[in-house]
This record gives sequence, C-alpha cells and structure tokens, in this order.
Amino acid sequence: MLDNLTQRLAKVVKTMRGEARLTETNTAEMLREVRLALLEADVALPAVRDFIAKVKQKAMGEEVLAALSPGQALVGVVQRELAAMMGGDLGPEASLLSFATQPPAVILMAGLQGAGKTTTVGKLAKFLKEKHKKKVLTVSADVYRPAAIGQLQTVTAQVGADFFPSLPTDKPVDIALAALDFAKRHYHDVLIIDTAGRLGIDADMMAEIAALHAAVKPIETLFVVDAMLGQDAINTAKAFNDALPLTGIVLTKLDGDARGGAALSVRHITGKPIKFAGVAEKLDGLEAFDPQRMANRILG
Ligand code: GDP
Repeated sequence: MLDNLTQRLAKVVKTMRGEARLTETNTAEMLREVRLALLEADVALPAVRDFIAKVKQKAMGEEVLAALSPGQALVGVVQRELAAMMGGDLGPEASLLSFATQPPAVILMAGLQGAGKTTTVGKLAKFLKEKHKKKVLTVSADVYRPAAIGQLQTVTAQVGADFFPSLPTDKPVDIALAALDFAKRHYHDVLIIDTAGRLGIDADMMAEIAALHAAVKPIETLFVVDAMLGQDAINTAKAFNDALPLTGIVLTKLDGDARGGAALSVRHITGKPIKFAGVAEKLDGLEAFDPQRMANRILG
C-alpha cells in the first residue's frame, strides 16, 4: 500500500526537525511528494502543475515562513489549496441548481456513453421531486442506442416523475422541442433532457448536442463524468466545455475505488463547479458535491 500524502509529508517534516526554516531544498522535497501523490490519484499533469505552482507560491508566503513549524504549515497549505481548487473557493452556492427562468427550467445532460447520464437523470428527478417539490418531466434524445429510451422510461417510472416518449426515428432537436412544448402545456417545473453519448469524443456528437443546446436554451447544462476515467477526464472535459457553455459537473461512481483525481482535472480545465456526486447505482445515490471531502480523498 502506498503511504497517503499526509504520512509522506509527515516523514519529510520529521527529517526537517532541527531545520527551523523552510529551505529551497526541503520545500522542493515536499512538493515532489505532493506531485507524486496527485499523479497516483490520476490527476492529469497540467492540473498537477497548476496546483504545485499555487502551493509553491503560498509556501513562500510569510504565513508559512513565520510559522513555528513551517513543515506543518505547508501541509496545511496543501490541504486548503486543494479544497479551494475543488471548488471550495466558489462558495456554497456553487453546488445549487438554478431555476431562475420562466418554467420549465431545462436541464441538459452531456457526457460520454457509460458516464452515468441516464442514471443521473433519474437521481436528479428524484432529488428535485422530493427535496424541491418540483414537477419533473424527462425525455431521451438518444436515438442511436436502441435500449436508451426504454432505460430512461424505467428509471423515470421508478422515481415517479413524468416521461415524454420519443421514437428512435425522430430527430433529437425535434424530440427536445416537442418535450419542451409538452412541459409548458402541462405546467412542469423542470424538463431534464438525456442525450446520446459515444464511447469517445466525436465531432458529430458534439455538433448534435450543441444544436440541442441552441434549440432549448437550458438554464443548466451538466457534464456527467465518471470518476474512474483517470487521465482521460481532462481531454473529455475540454471537448465538452469547448462545445457547450457548461454550468456544472456531475462526478459519478465515487462509490468505486478511484481516488477521484478526475475531479481536480475537470475543475482545472473547465473552471465550472462540480455540483453533484454520484455515490451509488441506486437512484438515491446522489449527493451535493463536497470540496473538502474530495480534497481529503485525493490526498489519500
Ligand atoms: P449513460 O450511458 O451515460 O447514460 O450511463 P448509464 O446511466 O447507463 O450508467 C452506466 C452504468 O454506470 C450503469 O450500470 C449505472 O448503473 C452505473 N452508474 C451510474 N452512476 C453510478 C454511480 O454513481 N455509482 C455506481 N456504482 N454506478 C453508477
């Protein structure tokens, strides 16, 4: 088993006893441990570099240099900076969904196939229905995967929300507009649109979801990403962020073994708040994202 970061830094701090000050050498040694720990947690390299640069700058700050135990103070900087970069600096409002629009508030889901979009639609419908007393309609614009529409129908029925049926022969934009019209006429508060995902980044898929976005003008566009994705998370997030004005991220499968480095990579490349975490296959497995907890998890 690898030592966690706190243990590793403790070792460096131990060898620093007697050295009252942070020197260039012992700071560099600590930052090397931080860098290794982040890479082991599968944080993408550009995000690691950015983080190390921030910590280095703070480490040279007076607060750390003047501390009684500069080594411990540096550990504190790493912990605080990571929580801030996970979204702690965005404030508690960042994780909330916006309904500041004429109803229905449209939520558009984007992400690769298997990321957990359809499951997350069910979880969100349940959350909005139970916690916010919203009348929710769901629709699938995935006309490519034969089982996709039926899967969303099943999930929607499980949480007792309304489902707008679509046909695989219909065009995604037409489906979304018909669902929007239905939602308006039946006084739904929220319309959640599930979309098609591919196994990898694909120009046609991006053009299609951009067209969907332009047609329905969602108040929330959520990028759903699998926490197990590792290094690839950064490229996937960049592609979706370039194609769409994302308003937030849902990080799924956090109940798995992944340390969750994807969270830092995705935050780094998009700058968008991670609003929710998927923590189970079951439809009650959705939590508001907690930056501090995620920071602790990445630190090991
Ligand atoms: P989509 O292709 O993006 O719509 O992905 P799905 O919603 O079909 O999910 C793909 C798989 O991941 C399914 O087997 C889901 O049960 C599973 N899944 C989704 N979210 C979570 C989660 O938070 N935790 C776990 N353990 N499994 C999840």
